[in-house]
Amino acid sequence: RLELRNVRKNFGPLEVLAGISLRVGAGEFVSILGPSGAGKSTLFQLLTGALKGEGEMRFDGAPLDNTRFAFMPQRDALMPWRRVIDNATLGLEVQGVKRRVARQRVAPLFAEFGLAGFERAWPSELSGGMRQRAALLRTVVQERDMLLLDEPFGALDALTRAAMQRWLETMWESHRWTAMLITHEVREAVLLSDRIYVLSARPARVVREIAVPLPRPRTQSAALAREAAA
Ligand code: ATP
Ligand code: MG
Repeated sequence: RLELRNVRKNFGPLEVLAGISLRVGAGEFVSILGPSGAGKSTLFQLLTGALKGEGEMRFDGAPLDNTRFAFMPQRDALMPWRRVIDNATLGLEVQGVKRRVARQRVAPLFAEFGLAGFERAWPSELSGGMRQRAALLRTVVQERDMLLLDEPFGALDALTRAAMQRWLETMWESHRWTAMLITHEVREAVLLSDRIYVLSARPARVVREIAVPLPRPRTQSAALAREAAA
């Protein structure tokens, strides 16, 4: 699906990406693990077209076109002046979907995302975990080919973060999105991904590619949950 070859980016004299090569297959969940300041968010900005870099970026064999991605930014994912439902529809509205239609599409997802009853709330009235779920809802409802999640749980306390990881894990089991997740938490990457690319400190290069062995912790916990429910 997505294939990057020797992708490079400098900000003036600052070398940030020193030649990143990676691939993400259809239905694969791939994590990018790397230290703070390595250039992870910069890589996503190249994918979404917000920044220009050098190197080869292809999607399904063709030169990359950024309409393939649904992107959840690291910061300020929700607009504080829009109600939760109007934040959820934002991605669809950008795609040209009328707000009324967009509302009909997002409404059934509120329960699945643990946000039932909060459609008309303001982002400031939600807990941190709920805000992140709302941002994720807006991202997945766009039904693009691939999700780009930049530290979706980065700002959360440890307990909420663990709960959100479990939640994403079960969501992923049922939806099978093709996804790329940026994180600097090793456990999170192992729990959620099929493969992990480990980046060096800036200038970032891929120092290791790890296939998470089966059974993944994810599969195990899902199996345990099924047994417990039986
Ligand atoms: P974190 O884990 O803290 O989010 P990151 O790996 O996402 O870090 P980036 O945000 O990609 O790191 O930044 C990589 C480097 O590029 C940093 O040194 C940063 O200061 C620099 N940088 C990022 N954006 C710009 C910009 N628009 N102009 C100049 N320098 C930038
Ligand atoms: Mg970042």
